Parts: sequence; structure tokens; C-alpha cells
Amino acid sequence: MYLAKIEIHGFKSFGDAVKLSIPQGITAVIGPNGSGKSNVADAIRWVLGEQSAKTLRGTKMEDIIFAGTEKRKSLGYAEVAMYIKNDDHVLPIEYEEVVIKRRVYRSGESEYFINGSHCRLKDIQELFMDTGIGKEGYSIIGQGQIDKILSSKPEDRRSLFEEAAGIYKYKVRRLEAEKK
Ligand code: ATP
Ligand code: MG
Repeated sequence: MYLAKIEIHGFKSFGDAVKLSIPQGITAVIGPNGSGKSNVADAIRWVLGEQSAKTLRGTKMEDIIFAGTEKRKSLGYAEVAMYIKNDDHVLPIEYEEVVIKRRVYRSGESEYFINGSHCRLKDIQELFMDTGIGKEGYSIIGQGQIDKILSSKPEDRRSLFEEAAGIYKYKVRRLEAEKK
């Protein structure tokens, strides 16, 4: 399983629709300060269901929608699609290519899609649970997060290992069952 492509339209500095193809191996994103490198990482976090505007370096969710420039009008919505090659079926779904998409309007309403079909945020969270990819996963490590991991309480640090070991989803299911 690997991330093959990201499409971004109307998210932060991406007023024009962009397609970023990601070849296998190591990819580095380079560019001058303020050119949108971190915005690419934010787009990935966001499409995976990030709900905190602060984590996305804004104050409210609307801040992630392209606000316009001197030459370009602002946009009414933001959309990010993530294409994942799933030939090895690490994601528990029959498709060999999985496309996760999220769209948000200025009203604040978010829509989520898996391979073009409307779904709930919960479906996306469940799909990625225990793969290390979810927004709580360890595959996106932000600036300052290493420090947080090192100085966190043992119980909090344990959740990282549970996710890596693939047992986190059972814990979530047990807690859900206990609530019922
Ligand atoms: P650095 O090298 O300093 O880390 P960077 O390449 O990571 O820079 P980003 O933080 O990704 O840069 O991008 C910042 C740019 O994104 C700023 O110019 C900011 O104006 C722009 N930006 C953020 N949100 C929006 C928005 N909603 N609409 C338009 N532009 C936005
Ligand atoms: Mg940056």
C-alpha cells in the first residue's frame, strides 16, 4: 500500500487545482518559504479527517479554504483527494486503488467520499485504523511532535505502540461495545 497521488483544489494556497504524483521511494517537497510545502502535509491530515483548525495552523476551519490573492478571487469550497494503491489489500477493502476525498464549504459542512461514494468520517477512520495512517497515526509526524512523544506519559505513548501492533481497533470496538 502506498500513497500514489494527491489532488488539491481550493485548499489553503492551492487556488488552482493541482495533481501531485508521488513516485515510489523517497519524495522530498522543496520550495521557498511560504510556497505551500507544509500546506501539502496539512491537506493529507485534513483529508484523513482532522477536525482541529489549530492542528492545521488556522483558527477556524474556514481558514483552510483558498482566501484569494490580489489577482484571484477566493473560492467557496476546498477539496482534497488522496489516491492510495492497495494491491496488497493492507486497507481492508476490495479495491486495488482507494480514493479518499473530503470537501468542505464555507458553511462549515464537510463531505467525505470513498471511491466516489458518500461516506461518514467514521468509515474513513475505520479504514485506516491500525495502518499507522490515520490522523492519529504515526505516519505523519509534525514539527514538535517528536518532543511530545518523548515527554508524554507512558499510557499515552503506549497508544502509539498499540496502533503499530494493530490492536488499537479492537480496543476501540471494546470501548464502543461497553458503552452500549
Ligand atoms: P516554510 O518554508 O516557511 O515552512 P511552506 O512552504 O511550508 O513555508 P506553507 O506554510 O505551506 O509554506 O504556506 C504558507 C502560505 O500559504 C502563506 O503564503 C499563506 O498565505 C498561504 N495560505 C494559507 N492559508 C491560505 C488560504 N486559506 N488562502 C490562501 N493562501 C493561504
Ligand atoms: Mg513549512
